[in-house]
Amino acid sequence: MDKITIIVPCYNEQEVIDMFYPAVQEHVTKIPDCKFNYIFVNDGSRDGTLEKLRSLSAAHDDVTYLSLSRNFGKESAMMAGIDYADGDAVIIMDADLQHPPEKVAEMVKWWREGYDDVCAKRTDREGETWLKRTCANIFYAIMKKFSTSYEMQRDVGDFRLLDRRCIEALRLMRENQRFTKGLFTWVGYHKKEIPFEVQPRAAGTTTWNFFALFNLAMKGMTSFTTAPLRLMTFLGIMISCAAMLYMFFVLTMALLYGDPVAGYPTLITVMLFLGGVQLLSLGIIGEYLGQIFHETKRRPIYLIDEIDGKRMIYKGALLPFERNFDKKT
Ligand code: UDP
Ligand code: MG
Repeated sequence: MDKITIIVPCYNEQEVIDMFYPAVQEHVTKIPDCKFNYIFVNDGSRDGTLEKLRSLSAAHDDVTYLSLSRNFGKESAMMAGIDYADGDAVIIMDADLQHPPEKVAEMVKWWREGYDDVCAKRTDREGETWLKRTCANIFYAIMKKFSTSYEMQRDVGDFRLLDRRCIEALRLMRENQRFTKGLFTWVGYHKKEIPFEVQPRAAGTTTWNFFALFNLAMKGMTSFTTAPLRLMTFLGIMISCAAMLYMFFVLTMALLYGDPVAGYPTLITVMLFLGGVQLLSLGIIGEYLGQIFHETKRRPIYLIDEIDGKRMIYKGALLPFERNFDKKT
């Protein structure tokens, strides 16, 4: 009998929680020789999500919920689920039923054939705005160009089945600035992509907006490649060479033809251009510095407030897996 844990990060999902459990159960109970349990992670929701989860876990033995002490973001919420999962494999699903539960059977099939990471690859990007699609294209193109040792999987999200091996590997990575999609790729092992179509949200609204996605993309870029820094060095060399040539040109012209003190347009263009390039490179260095700043503090990735009705208090060392907690009633 295989045991699979389904991890569901939830942030303000009160409308969908009650729909989610029966919808998924309907499909997973048909899978032979396999027992499923659920870990819902309440990521500091401000609506009635926690109450819904409390009653769900009281009603069903196979449901556990972790409630984080505040909103830590989906990446951290997923990590909490991963830390507490006890199955032979884990499936990560969104609470809003955008990830079709009928795909689970197929994932389990491939897992049983020996794959460690069965990820669902979206075949459509419909239902997304043109802007979101274009930005996704640009992001993947940049990541592909920059990451040389391994390739970021395209159009693959967090909907996936991970074997115990991947779970243990992910638990080793305690970085704060988490770009989970990159971490999944980084751990390697045997990957299988299966196609799926993203469904419309069952209810509620998405929490992602343009800036959230931009931040995630920046995080992905700065935590997986230093290529932008290299690019700036390269740009610096090119500009210095060009400046040198231009200097010779200006000097020669002045010596040969005298200098009738002109060139305000040239001067201002050069100044603004150089100023821009300098600010850009400072910004890029700053992004990396920011990463270092956050990582050196070694804060835990999340804090748990409550597990299945029991309030948690942390004692002593939190590392490595932040599992050292005491139950306080
Ligand atoms: N989510 C979360 N913490 C957050 C934001 C989102 O746990 O800070 C969860 C959310 O409840 C959902 C999943 O992450 O289960 C995906 O979020 P959403 O549906 O808003 O994003 P989209 O599907 O539009 O990318
Ligand atoms: Mg969604």
